[in-house]
Amino acid sequence: MLFERIFVEKQVQQHPQTLRVQEALPKIPVTYIDKISDVFEKARKPYLQKRDSLNLFLGRKEGQLVKEAPDAYGLSGDPHYYFIHAYNCIYECEYCYLQGYFHSPDLVMFVNHDEILAEMKQICRQHSPEETVWFHAGEFSDSLALAHLSGELPEYWDFFREMPNARMELRTKSVNIKPLLTLGPLENIIITFSLSPSAAARQYDRKTPSTQARLNAMKRLADAGFQMGIHLDPIVYDERFESDYQQLVTEMLQAVPVEQVNYISLGVVRFTRDVFHEFSKNYPKSGLLAGEFVKSFDNKVRYNRPQRLYLLKTVQRMCVEGGVAPEKVYLCMEAE
Ligand code: SF4
Repeated sequence: MLFERIFVEKQVQQHPQTLRVQEALPKIPVTYIDKISDVFEKARKPYLQKRDSLNLFLGRKEGQLVKEAPDAYGLSGDPHYYFIHAYNCIYECEYCYLQGYFHSPDLVMFVNHDEILAEMKQICRQHSPEETVWFHAGEFSDSLALAHLSGELPEYWDFFREMPNARMELRTKSVNIKPLLTLGPLENIIITFSLSPSAAARQYDRKTPSTQARLNAMKRLADAGFQMGIHLDPIVYDERFESDYQQLVTEMLQAVPVEQVNYISLGVVRFTRDVFHEFSKNYPKSGLLAGEFVKSFDNKVRYNRPQRLYLLKTVQRMCVEGGVAPEKVYLCMEAE
């Protein structure tokens, strides 16, 4: 991966993460700027330009760093939050919600993890010690794809080691697991992989590691004792749906013993209207467009409800038949 240029906010010029990234990418020219917002998204940059010209921004995230997650985000009954440590992604999944979300596909890494952790600590204090407070990474990026470059994970490990009733989810499609294996497992850090059947991943998850590579990475982490989770999301319908998902569920439960699977979330392909518009423009020949989509309960574009329920219930049944406790399988962002 080649960044064209690195933009660094002057206020983080000497930050260890900034120095680390620059050291790892010594040939990429650097421009120092006052604020990321002075340059990032200033001029609209088409999403697909990420294929041949990508800049990297390093700076300090201002405003709220940790936010309450929407309903149906995780296992119900617990408080869920997500934190923002980066924008945009090196991969190019056709259904990605980031297309059209920002006016630029350039990558942004925020370096003020100390402030994110301070907000997390404050939130934990607002909840009783009996509650499990969840913090999810990767709402606007992949949590692990560039972790070797950004190097912030040890700070999170130190924090969660001291906060046994807080949990963190790192969600990924990458196989960049060396930083995790170096740190070792913690009971309250859950590594989750998004998976699709091999054929669907080949078709729609552009530039990501293959399903088989992700399964191999999951197995290595499970063997090393990590707590794991799985997102079968987005589920896409095609005529091989049942046999492909049966194979995937079997393979993933071979890779990760069922007792290390903390949860499995299921979600059917969906788009906001803006993202659907961008997606149709960016991928006019996509096989996804063969589906019949309708506007549904939350104004998102989805398959119709009977079809969604058929897909979700079928995969849910496969997971339960594979030995996963029914309460560990939940339907993501879906009204029952
Ligand atoms: S891995 Fe996630 S964030 Fe990255 S392109 Fe795919 S869907 Fe988008």
